[in-house]
Amino acid sequence: MDGTTYLSDYRPYPFTLSTVSLTFRLAPRATRVTARLALSPRAAGAALHLDGEELKLISLALDGAALAPADYRLTETGLTIHPAALPEGPFTLETEVEIAPETNTALEGLYMSKGMYCTQCEAEGFRKITFYPDRPDVMARFHVRIEGEAPVLLSNGNPVGAGDGWAEWDDPWPKPAYLFALVAGELVATQGSFTTMSGRKADLNVWVRPGDEDRTDYALGAIQRSMKWDEEAFGREYDLDVFNLVAVDDFNMGAMENKGLNIFNSKLVLASPETATDLDYERIEGVIGHEYFHNWTGDRITCRDWFQLCLKEGLTVFRDQSFTSDMRLGAVKRIEDVIALRARQFREDAGPLAHPPRPDHYREINNFYTSTVYEKGAEVVRMLQTLLGPDGFRAAMDLYFARHDGQACTIEDWITVFEDASGRDLGQFKRWYTDAGTPHLTVTETFENGTYTLEFTQDTKPTPGQAEKPPRLIPIAVGLIGPNGDEVVPTRVLEMTEARQSFAFEGLGAKPVPSILRGFSAPVVLERQTSPAEQAFLLANDTDPFNRWEAGRSLARETLIAMTTGAAPDAEYLDAVGGLIADEAADPAFRALVLRLPSEDEIAQAIAASGKVADPDAIHAARTALMQALAARHEATLAATYEACAQPGAYRPEAADAGRRSLRLACLALLGTRDGGARAAALFDNATNMTESLGALGLLVAQGKGEAALARFRARWQDNALVMDKWFTTQLALCPPAEAADRAARLAEDPLFTWKNPNRFRALMGGLSANHAGFHRADGAGYRFYADWLIRLDPVNPQTAARMSTAFETRARYDAGRQAKIRAELERIAAVEGLSRDLSEMTARLLG
Ligand code: ZN
Repeated sequence: MDGTTYLSDYRPYPFTLSTVSLTFRLAPRATRVTARLALSPRAAGAALHLDGEELKLISLALDGAALAPADYRLTETGLTIHPAALPEGPFTLETEVEIAPETNTALEGLYMSKGMYCTQCEAEGFRKITFYPDRPDVMARFHVRIEGEAPVLLSNGNPVGAGDGWAEWDDPWPKPAYLFALVAGELVATQGSFTTMSGRKADLNVWVRPGDEDRTDYALGAIQRSMKWDEEAFGREYDLDVFNLVAVDDFNMGAMENKGLNIFNSKLVLASPETATDLDYERIEGVIGHEYFHNWTGDRITCRDWFQLCLKEGLTVFRDQSFTSDMRLGAVKRIEDVIALRARQFREDAGPLAHPPRPDHYREINNFYTSTVYEKGAEVVRMLQTLLGPDGFRAAMDLYFARHDGQACTIEDWITVFEDASGRDLGQFKRWYTDAGTPHLTVTETFENGTYTLEFTQDTKPTPGQAEKPPRLIPIAVGLIGPNGDEVVPTRVLEMTEARQSFAFEGLGAKPVPSILRGFSAPVVLERQTSPAEQAFLLANDTDPFNRWEAGRSLARETLIAMTTGAAPDAEYLDAVGGLIADEAADPAFRALVLRLPSEDEIAQAIAASGKVADPDAIHAARTALMQALAARHEATLAATYEACAQPGAYRPEAADAGRRSLRLACLALLGTRDGGARAAALFDNATNMTESLGALGLLVAQGKGEAALARFRARWQDNALVMDKWFTTQLALCPPAEAADRAARLAEDPLFTWKNPNRFRALMGGLSANHAGFHRADGAGYRFYADWLIRLDPVNPQTAARMSTAFETRARYDAGRQAKIRAELERIAAVEGLSRDLSEMTARLLG
């Protein structure tokens, strides 16, 4: 009707497609693509519709004979062949089209990045390459011939022939078009191999532009670790002779799991100690794992339609989280993931863009590659693991692979697998997939005659289009700790199914302190009235590392909220943190996480959730004051820890070393409020790795003392795009809020602000929106600047423009003046003539 697609309208494709033969004759402005499709009707009388956009049709033939104009209809969105022109049995359709990769700035379909040809087809980019049934439930075998001048010509599957100016590839595994990929250019490979558990040898190549090959070792090792881990953890083996991974500089997202030919944003491949931070290394390993794990969860088993996106994404995020957890420190990884979930997904769920992990309608599917589909989707899989236990979960996964290999599936198929494997009815559990919103869990306790009772209430606020929120099945992991600090009841998973429900623990000698939602066993907001003394007790004694951290986090959040209205920092909190800074028994990475205060955005979110108006300036002031108070109280310990964490010797990206650097920088951030930035300046001068160099730079900027360091950093790194992205982001995210909007405007004039490159655009705009009080400057300067640039980017790259518009999703948290200013900017964007479908869907939803 209005261009909306509904889940309930799904119909199977009326044809089957067995093989596809593609030939590309590459040229920047006039690439020719011929496609030969072997089709056969499932039932008589159906028209054949092929998707196609921005294609110039050169020829069209059915079983070798050209079709007459009366036999088909060509529109802006595709090609339809009348039923009368189609044979009753199998037939071959051959098309030839012309496309212009060089002018493709949207980076969807076939495009060029720094002289190199590459593709991005998910979700619906293949229709910009050739006429095709561009939907994930149509799976076919692909044969690809590439003709072009470039020395390296790559596509999916196995190489089956190559010569001067051509190469052919054959992919034995049927796949949907969104997994198609082609790369051609002047590239160099870092090579390795992997022998699978059944003894097959696969060649591995990490392809980059000449000059970047000295930053590829880590990526190659990460592929090998991913392959090994998937065999050990899930019994999944690689299934082609070669695995190619290519780094490109212009890419809308992080990376893409095309079968046998993963294409990556170069920031998630290239790493050296001098240019990449510890966080970069961790992300590179995680995303390489993620894309590799898609080979089974995404490629071998794919999605029936795009509403099922979280079937592959939620599951694959869960898999990459588990991988990182095994490669690094599991407890620390879990805390980092929950911090990110709250920062992005809880924020999304609390605003106008809230949607279920499996939505039931969309206008533009690209707008649904969200934190809800990915990160909440992963939490839902994690809850299944919690409910079934590790062995039950593995058995269900085995059944999923055995039953659905080679198919395009739904969430219903997935749930059924878990029901069949466990013998449980998961009907109520399924609401996690279909209902939007974050449940709030409140709890009260009683203790009587040795029986300790917890009474829970669950409540989820209405979200757009979903007024009713029936209760969900919530797994609540609970342990009880005795007054002396010993655990008296080890972790037990309570299954809450009602709106209000009690759970009793009998035979206790004294009233225990409960540790609730251990390991963050469900993606809910836990609201519990407790005393700071009890939180401090848990921070000192909980055996569950997540809840130990969580206790400190709640204390910090509560004291910060109180400080926004003038309270003094909570003494209990200041003392409790002091005990941990120098606690050698606790892991340095864990201690760093305890020292890191909640972000200003998180504090704003918490204030709004309690029904009050968030004041960005007061929040910034409170957070700054709490850092000062912590530093004043613990200066000597912080200084000693800072020194103790120095690591002479060569940089290693391993988790243990990274943890020490992280603690060192957390100490430095607090110490900066005492030493006027002297230590940060010294570290910046002497740093030999990017983690410390960038960390020190950010602290200097935050103190308003960054100009000289910024200039030196720029002079040193101006030719390294990935490092310059950091230069843009850091100074905007961390500078004093009052100057952020003006600084952003100044940086937008910098010749290095090559805004058509998505990484650079995100570096600048994302840096500004990360500066909470700066972006939300009361006079609206931040909003105006940001909206101006979304309007400018939209015709060039609608996907990235639409994605960045989520900076406005938190409007309702703030005062009437700010709300009106944001609304005015959104209305200004919505009124732009010719606005993309991507951005107009977003502004419509944001305006509510
Ligand atoms: Zn993915």
